[in-house]
Amino acid sequence: MSPNIPFFKQVDQYVNRAAPFAELPDGLLAQIKATNAVYHVSFPVEMDDGSIRVVEGWRAAHSVHKLPVKGGVRISEHASEDEVTALAALMTFKCALVDVPYGGGKGGIRVEKHNFSERELERIVRRYTFELTQKNFIGPSVDVPGPDMGVGAREIGWMVDTYMALSTGKPHLQAAVTGKPLPLGGIRGRVEATGRGVFFGIREAVDQKDDMEALGLEPGLEGKRVVIQGLGNVGYYAGRFLTDAGAVVVGVAEREGAIHDPKGIDVEALFQHRAQGGSILEFPAKEALEDARAGLELDCEILVPAALENQITPENAPRIQARIIAEGANGPVTVDAHDILARRGVLMLPDMYLNAGGVTVSYFEWLKNLSNVRLGRMNRRFEAAAQNRVLDAVEVVTGKTFGPEVREEVAVGAREEDVVNSGLEDTMINAYHETREAAKDWDTDLRTSAYALALRKVATAYRDRGIFP
Ligand code: NAD
Repeated sequence: MSPNIPFFKQVDQYVNRAAPFAELPDGLLAQIKATNAVYHVSFPVEMDDGSIRVVEGWRAAHSVHKLPVKGGVRISEHASEDEVTALAALMTFKCALVDVPYGGGKGGIRVEKHNFSERELERIVRRYTFELTQKNFIGPSVDVPGPDMGVGAREIGWMVDTYMALSTGKPHLQAAVTGKPLPLGGIRGRVEATGRGVFFGIREAVDQKDDMEALGLEPGLEGKRVVIQGLGNVGYYAGRFLTDAGAVVVGVAEREGAIHDPKGIDVEALFQHRAQGGSILEFPAKEALEDARAGLELDCEILVPAALENQITPENAPRIQARIIAEGANGPVTVDAHDILARRGVLMLPDMYLNAGGVTVSYFEWLKNLSNVRLGRMNRRFEAAAQNRVLDAVEVVTGKTFGPEVREEVAVGAREEDVVNSGLEDTMINAYHETREAAKDWDTDLRTSAYALALRKVATAYRDRGIFP
């Protein structure tokens, strides 16, 4: 059964399916598929009680057709070499698809996060960063880690601080890591970027009238029933943006179980409830399910797996009721499950496209750090003044006067978060249409076309470097 197939092999199988569309010579394809380098490290960390724990970690650089390589670091008890290499490969294809100029990388630290105090975690993350720095597996032009499961702004803050302390004298140190807290060179909009991108992707998909007709659905998000697995960074923000746009979150699955309520679940309230240590099963809802995975099978139009890989397998795929699977997580649908769902006409919005919002905004953060200037700083007032001049001219021509509310609304320059969100929206819309058009031309599904497009783009980069004919 496919969950037993290593994750890297599953990514490889998806690549193999897409390869004929990309029409690449064998040598070039082999180079793109191979993992360039993996660094496996074991290091001792002192626990609060004075004992020593040996922690394992990895950093994989999948494809170096462009540098730096880029990808998150995951803190999870399941982290492994297979997982980081698979996730690094996905990063290669993801960045290529959305035209973010990086190779693919990924890191993992194998610990069960909840079993450690904050100070212990800090020592683990700092030591991991120290190890990466020693071996040149981190740096603004070689490898730029970012957030992933179990890693948020706090952990990223420890990473960048450690890297900077060890790397004095080099330029643009803050650009070595993304997802940073704002005072350490972070960018507005990064925290919610992946979830926002998931929302943009789903919105684009449900706005295609023909595609919705084929699924037996009305176009638009209004009233669409959504189930989310994993109310973390990706799932929580995706849920919030989808709700704001008129969709109804009717189910949420977490580690400890799942809840279902056809009238809708208040995602914000549920998130706060869990943040304060509450269990999802205690949250008011029509139905509570002890079996978390059963949440995936709840009745809905859109299922958003936003937790782990290998969640939808041949075992549960036949029971999935959603017509659209929006892959917020990386690798949530196994290859065999993909085939079962595809045969049932389910629309799958593939991970490498749908969750690319995170790396897209990380790219904006990296650019900000390299240029040492906040986005919008140079042009915001200029834009506002230009709009005011237009309003002045309209007043002269019409003889009418605009009130202060109109000026406040119209005569505004873009702030950093406006520029970030606009760049993210543009990226997600363009990539959706590019992938959809290619899928139509090749008469294949979105995942295969996304992989094939990405393969072509990576191949072009290798050829541009003169490495392959
Ligand atoms: P996170 O740690 O913030 O959240 C993950 C959530 O999933 C947590 O709330 C956790 O309790 C829950 N979870 C864990 N195991 C579960 C299970 N068996 N069933 C149900 N819920 C479970 O992580 P995240 O950053 O939101 O990442 C989630 C997924 O999205 C991962 O696959 C990650 O690779 C992918 N992703 C994240 C980003 C990003 O910017 N953070 C970007 C792209 C892709």
